[in-house]
Amino acid sequence: MDDEADIQLAPLSWHIDRDEGSMTVSFHGGVDENVNLDDLAEELAGEVTFDLRGVTFINSCGVREWVNLMRSLTRVRTLAFTHCSTAVVAQLNLVFNFRGNAEVRSVYVPYYCHACDSECSCLHEIEGKSLDQVLQSLPRLCDSCGAEMECDELPERYFAFLMVS
Ligand SMILES: [Zn+2]
Repeated sequence: MDDEADIQLAPLSWHIDRDEGSMTVSFHGGVDENVNLDDLAEELAGEVTFDLRGVTFINSCGVREWVNLMRSLTRVRTLAFTHCSTAVVAQLNLVFNFRGNAEVRSVYVPYYCHACDSECSCLHEIEGKSLDQVLQSLPRLCDSCGAEMECDELPERYFAFLMVS
């Protein structure tokens, strides 16, 4: 458990992959009061993708920094969020301008199997889909035992951010 706590409290870091006019930024760690996104803001331009699978938690001070980042991306032509972790999805639902102008392309959905007690986190592509289409695509069978798994979050609440896009 100590290891898990250490990972959750790791400060935010990121890595930028560049490819002719586009860049992908992979984030790892937590977004909190220690985060400083000014350097990142200066680097971002063109077509930008944020890979958010490694974001473990976001607190209210971190949200403020993040929203400031979204506001400062004047040289960014298009912005997409992919592989949103559950921590990111929670903020998409809570904070109106958390995503700025970003298009949300894919998110992780946590599942639980009552039959065999296993858990998994499954990536769902949601680009261009309506809330209804996403909800219909959610049912999933357990890899271990084949039983139908249950979403660990209330789907209508987890995907509520789709209604304001
Ligand atoms: Zn199972």
